[in-house]
Amino acid sequence: MGILVQKFGGSSVADVDKIRHVANLVSREFDNGQQVVVVVSAMGKTTDGLVSLASQIMDNPNGREYDALLATGEQVTTSLLAMTLNTMGYDAVGLTGGQAGITTEALPNRARILDINTTAVRQHLNQGRIVVITGFQGIDHAGNITTLGRGGSDTSAVAIAGALEADACHIYTDVDGVYSTDPRVVPHAVKLDRIAYIEMMELARVGAKVLHPRAVETARQGKVKLVVRSTFKPEDMGTMVEGIGALELDRRVTGIACDKNQSRLAIEGVPDIPGVAATVFGQLADANVSVDMIIQSISRSTNTEGETKQTNDIAFTVGKTDTEDAKDILTKVKDELGAKQVLQSDNVAKVSIVGVGMIDRPGIASDMFAALAKANVNIHMIATSEIKISCLIPNEDTDKAVQALHGMFFPDAEPNSKLTSGDILVNEKVGY
Ligand code: ASP
Ligand code: MG
Repeated sequence: MGILVQKFGGSSVADVDKIRHVANLVSREFDNGQQVVVVVSAMGKTTDGLVSLASQIMDNPNGREYDALLATGEQVTTSLLAMTLNTMGYDAVGLTGGQAGITTEALPNRARILDINTTAVRQHLNQGRIVVITGFQGIDHAGNITTLGRGGSDTSAVAIAGALEADACHIYTDVDGVYSTDPRVVPHAVKLDRIAYIEMMELARVGAKVLHPRAVETARQGKVKLVVRSTFKPEDMGTMVEGIGALELDRRVTGIACDKNQSRLAIEGVPDIPGVAATVFGQLADANVSVDMIIQSISRSTNTEGETKQTNDIAFTVGKTDTEDAKDILTKVKDELGAKQVLQSDNVAKVSIVGVGMIDRPGIASDMFAALAKANVNIHMIATSEIKISCLIPNEDTDKAVQALHGMFFPDAEPNSKLTSGDILVNEKVGY
């Protein structure tokens, strides 16, 4: 008998009626002869509520007590779902991350899973029970409760599926799959039946919120068959996330995402000598600031106070939460290097196209730039990888840019989508 892992996100378990609905989806799989493990998130916006309670006590709550607090949300859902299944006549048991054998790093707030000892879960399954496990948490070696970072229940589910060698991991959410772009921005965005792990990982990193990037990486490593599907339209098969081998590479671009959470910083007039970039980015790395797009200009001669020097400009983007730290570091580095000035711009956004179909296929970058030009969108910075091209653009042009790119790369998309605005609005965090 195969094992199926089903994961339900916060909006799928937001109230008792929804938990009853979820219990039906779980029991249906059990009745079909599967061994079922369910991983749940906290109800609705519970975790946000807990974060806010903690912030009323102290400014930067971080650490053991904070993790213990945040982990309670998932425990509530787990108990309620197990109780609901019991009232329906099923033998169900609820387990915390620790009880389910999940050991993590001793790193509060963003611990990674180190090991899953599946003995207890397997015993319950073999005794005919449905096992419900809290997402988002584990315990460290000292037995402290840890959490995996916001959105981490996806990762819990995939890691559990990998450890149990489950047949599949179904991520139930409030959208019916992964779309070519955010349907709120492009109403005729297309639902993708299949997407490669690496495409999903890139899309998740550049702004798609439908899956946690670490969950996709965990699925790829453990070769877990991952399906994203809707709790509210369970008859739809959703989107399958799988290896490239299984995909046809006939589409040039798979998805378009945007990230409005970026700032651009630049240091102007740094000396054109070896070691400058190492100094700038070394200091940022020491402060744990992760840098995204980087551009260094061509060296030029500058004349300062009668002296001619070769200098460069270096510009890069960081997440908005890191902007102030990065700026302080740059200002210090500017003085060390005798650079001219530090510039900051917050009015920027990053739009990206992603697809394994762009490997060895020329012309995609130029089509992207042509679409943006036609929409009259100015490009500040460009970065490329094998399966992704990103452009930094003015923040206010984001929707226009995404629409133009969708028109360019999904010309066949039906203008009359099967989605109704009602479907889309149910969802607070639509895929992208
Ligand atoms: N409840 C946690 C959060 O809101 C984890 C999750 O839902 O995945 O971030
Ligand atoms: Mg989530």
